[in-house]
Amino acid sequence: MKVIVVGGGIIGCLTACMLKQRGVDCVVLERNTPGHEASWAGAGILCPIHPWLYPDDFSRFVDDSLMLFPQLREQMEQATGVDIQYIESGLMIPEFESDLVSHRDAALAWSRKFNWEVEALSVEETMLMEPSLNGAQLKSSLRWPKVSQLRNPRLLRAVQAWMRQLLIPCVENCHVDCLLESSCGVTGVQDSKGQKYEGDAVLLACGSWSGELAEKWGCSLPVKPVKGQIVLLHGPVGTLHHIVKHDDAYFVPRSDGRVLVGASMEYVGFKKGNTPEVVQALLHAMLRIAPGLKDAEIEHQWMGFRPGSPDGMPYIGPVESRKGLWVASGHYRNGVCLAPATAVMVSRWMTGEAVPEYMHSFLPGRISTASETLGYPEF
Ligand SMILES: Cc1cc2nc3c(=O)[nH]c(=O)nc-3n(C[C@H](O)[C@H](O)[C@H](O)COP(=O)(O)OP(=O)(O)OC[C@H]3O[C@@H](n4cnc5c(N)ncnc54)[C@H](O)[C@@H]3O)c2cc1C
Repeated sequence: MKVIVVGGGIIGCLTACMLKQRGVDCVVLERNTPGHEASWAGAGILCPIHPWLYPDDFSRFVDDSLMLFPQLREQMEQATGVDIQYIESGLMIPEFESDLVSHRDAALAWSRKFNWEVEALSVEETMLMEPSLNGAQLKSSLRWPKVSQLRNPRLLRAVQAWMRQLLIPCVENCHVDCLLESSCGVTGVQDSKGQKYEGDAVLLACGSWSGELAEKWGCSLPVKPVKGQIVLLHGPVGTLHHIVKHDDAYFVPRSDGRVLVGASMEYVGFKKGNTPEVVQALLHAMLRIAPGLKDAEIEHQWMGFRPGSPDGMPYIGPVESRKGLWVASGHYRNGVCLAPATAVMVSRWMTGEAVPEYMHSFLPGRISTASETLGYPEF
């Protein structure tokens, strides 16, 4: 069997590795260079923003994915020598007097249901752990000690090194354009230079660009870009210990003193670049929530396009009525967190093995109910 994987982000590359490990021949076709879009730009938080807002099948998928990370990290590190800086830094959600929404009850109920270790902390306990937070406004906090993070550029480097070891070819500067089909089904793709790539199946894994490509191929896949800007601060090591999330912003402390401040949610199509208004809003939120970071140096800023879906959930599985066409896309805010389970499930499914029942909630042909809190609001 040969699979043509279209898109060299974390989803396409990791799925190619899992397919190859199952003895499937594959090639990854990438428009530019692999791993330079959303998968590079993300914050590397290994936990959805507000998992309690999603259907239970989503949480089941998250749990399966997170379980795969420690082994995957070890396997990749052994094979490639790249340390992805997978760290169990924990996650804290502080509650302030001025908050418009309280996640407390729903978050605690969800944590009990899915067996996630969680602690409810007083102001004093919170400030002892995170003295950079705004203690004057703080009411309480929730802390999940087992939540982890990783560094995206390192993850991408590791996955690409792993692909080379597994002898998976990656064709760069290959802008896939057309789907090739015969009366028996999909037979491959053709790029914008007219080069054909033939195989038994095609996996569409183009992140934010999957929606427009699918439309060109006559399929409906409502994936659209949601721009996210991030500001990188550099302060002394230990200014912040946990990933801190709030409705207005999140902060992700790296082990070298860097702190990511993210991320905007912008529905502006594929308009690139960082903008003063958004960067300023992120920094304002940071000063309000964690004033202890005020002396950190602004080191860098960047942005990326999340592959948004109407209900915030990915599209994974075979496309009905297009034999041989598969999709793994629309992972929105959770593509890094969900990459291991996506890759494993797709590789099993494509090779005829059973997948858990919950995977049917992510089928590309499903009717997605738009949710303004979770998904892309304009569908
Ligand atoms: C600011 C920001 C913060 C985020 N934070 C987190 C987080 O903390 N945790 C988390 O889990 N997720 C996070 N995400 C989401 C996560 O990054 C994405 O869901 C994930 O990277 C999607 O991976 P992908 O491989 O589907 O897409 P991408 O990484 O975008 O890869 C798609 C690839 O397809 C290629 N392509 C497109 N069109 C074509 C074509 N026609 N032919 C060939 N190749 C093509 C592109 O060039 C690209 O390389 C964040 C995203 C952003 C932007």
